[in-house]
Amino acid sequence: MVGYRRMSREELAARVEKAVEMLRDCRVCAQVCRVNRLGGEKGFCRTGRLAVVSSWGPHFGEEKVLVGRYGSGTIFFANCNLACRFCQNYEISQCGEGRELTARELALAMLELQEMGCHNINLVSPSHCVPQILEALYLAVQEGLSVPLVYNTGGYDALPVLRLLEGIVDIYMPDIKFGDDEVGERYTGAKKYFTVAKQAVKEMHRQVGDLEVDERGIAVRGLLVRHLVMPGDLARTAAVMEFLAREVSPATFVNIMAQYYPAHEAFRYPELSRRITAQEYREAREIARRCGLYRLYP
Ligand code: SF4
Repeated sequence: MVGYRRMSREELAARVEKAVEMLRDCRVCAQVCRVNRLGGEKGFCRTGRLAVVSSWGPHFGEEKVLVGRYGSGTIFFANCNLACRFCQNYEISQCGEGRELTARELALAMLELQEMGCHNINLVSPSHCVPQILEALYLAVQEGLSVPLVYNTGGYDALPVLRLLEGIVDIYMPDIKFGDDEVGERYTGAKKYFTVAKQAVKEMHRQVGDLEVDERGIAVRGLLVRHLVMPGDLARTAAVMEFLAREVSPATFVNIMAQYYPAHEAFRYPELSRRITAQEYREAREIARRCGLYRLYP
């Protein structure tokens, strides 16, 4: 049984209340803008009281452990709490393409994905919308939602908010984009990106442990980390892999991704303006293996 179904209705309601209250002086993510989103103010993520959703539907392009036979039920939240210069979805993440959904509408989207047979509800870029997600979840649970939640984040999450998700989120899927704070800030706009992501990933692993799959090979619980290899080792892959192997677990399921291409504002940065080579990708995997990580994907 998924975590949120084991939780009492009173406890879930208390988590919703605490999360919504955080919007008043917003510290819902690690940007800590301290704007009053309940009063209509907007901070770095340009999102007010309601979540903006660009689309939802079964998705077959995610990791096999999430997709299974009927797909991962993705919900794409617009307006990211990072501003990656090379973002491949910048119309959604930076331009806010989508529409505001009430808690009831978001709950119905979750239920629709479950009815379509999706193996999970995959919350894409959820960090700035945790209160709205919890409000919707509270309603959806009463209507029978029972598939695992996947928290599919850029990794810039606030610890107090992650603690509110303990026992609710079964599968955490953070990126660790950069293994260096300075480089991370240059390309994401987020201060101390690596430091924050490390704390967040450790907290996620403390809550759910290494990735577990069922008899069909579909993820039921645990941590799945994504790392995008960047040209010229801009992502500082060795630091990321060392951290995972030593401070999280050598059994961490890591997707080492090769699909970087220059998008959005990447053309302004000569070092971001090419794809990676096959050799760079091989080296990144080799580094991960040398660090002792043995659950590499693909
Ligand atoms: S969610 Fe994060 S980025 Fe958005 S206003 Fe709150 S602290 Fe700022």
